[in-house]
Amino acid sequence: MSSSRPGSDFASMYDLEITHAPDAGGHFGRFGGRFAAETLMQPLKEIEAAFFEAWADDAFHAERLDLLEHYVGRATPLYHAERLSNQNGGAQIYLKREDLTHTGAHKINNTIGQGLLARRMEKKRVIAETGAGQHGVATATVAAMFGMKCDIYMGREDMARQMPNVLRMRLLGAKVIPVDSGTATLKDAVNEALRNWVATCEDTFYIFGTAAGPHPYPLLVRQFHTVIGQEARAQILKQAGRLPDVAVACVGGGSNAMGLLHPFRDDAAVKLVAVEAAGYGLKTGKHAASLAAGKAGILHGNLTYLLEDDEGQVQRTHSISAGLDYPGVGPELAFMLEEGRLQLDAATDEEAMAALQLLTRSEGIIPALESSHALAAGARIAQSMRQDQIVIINLSGRGDKDMDTVFRHLGWLEDAS
Ligand SMILES: *Cc1c(COP(=O)(O)O)cnc(C)c1O
Repeated sequence: MSSSRPGSDFASMYDLEITHAPDAGGHFGRFGGRFAAETLMQPLKEIEAAFFEAWADDAFHAERLDLLEHYVGRATPLYHAERLSNQNGGAQIYLKREDLTHTGAHKINNTIGQGLLARRMEKKRVIAETGAGQHGVATATVAAMFGMKCDIYMGREDMARQMPNVLRMRLLGAKVIPVDSGTATLKDAVNEALRNWVATCEDTFYIFGTAAGPHPYPLLVRQFHTVIGQEARAQILKQAGRLPDVAVACVGGGSNAMGLLHPFRDDAAVKLVAVEAAGYGLKTGKHAASLAAGKAGILHGNLTYLLEDDEGQVQRTHSISAGLDYPGVGPELAFMLEEGRLQLDAATDEEAMAALQLLTRSEGIIPALESSHALAAGARIAQSMRQDQIVIINLSGRGDKDMDTVFRHLGWLEDAS
């Protein structure tokens, strides 16, 4: 524990002040809020109270930061990708290496935080939703480490597409519960997890996977991920002697984006860019770009931008990357966009696939397909900038889980299948 005590070198990297907090009802401007079944209002308020109490407690942070250092492997490096920068032309590209965390993606920052809250609240069981299985794996990992019972809700269709992660969760001791309602994908898994929580909240903590959902989840998830941007800010000041000109992250629900971007929010000269999945192209309607193409509405307990069809039904989204395939988006990103603090960008399936190969060949780093969307847009932005300028791109995860998709895309598995 000693090295992570508040006041130690490691802990001193992190600022624990909560800035740009939502109002008491969880609103970021007109977005956010807490639209939930009457029976969930009480447990949500209990989590909110437990969070604020824990956040003010040095012992909570000592344990959280100790786990982030020794279990997760923080701080993750900020890597100056010189070969990529030179090949790409334009600004210097720095990669924030969340792919090097335990379990291979940023999601563990959040599940450690919520897992500690669950234990503090003396809950014996945790539940979570998962789409691609990444949040399910990160939750099952923490549940195993804390010795908690763990049930993961997952659309049956996603289970078929992501079998290795399903098996990984089982190996970790979690039960994966198939969801057949709706389109049997992520949004249905969230609904099912919420439904279960109504009946079980006495002994169960719902570990929500992204910076969305009813208040206090968007705030909680953001706070647990700000380690990403706080480290990146300190690292770039040390390595380059100045702040970046642009910071870029991909957006599914918005957790890695809020994690990287939030700590740069008050640095007016730093452009903040969110990259959505354009799927087959924004004009085709087959994409997951809720901020670019959505309308304001209520999804999973908060007011945000979401993709609906003409009848007001939540639309079926498409992205080659399962982790970005979500019809909503975190309410704070919707707010930052309307406020003019966030710049929007998008990358198609093809562009993400090309960016994945470019980084792999130029730097020997195989990124997740989600992160490849940020890379595609970030590299394009860098091309229009000077060589002495800096772009930080969040490499939210590693690509191992996507190899089957990539090899199929390249036509390398046709003979084998
Ligand atoms: C889940 C995931 C995402 C998308 O989720 P956010 O909450 O928007 O960050 C992005 N990258 C990776 C590697 C993921 O696993």
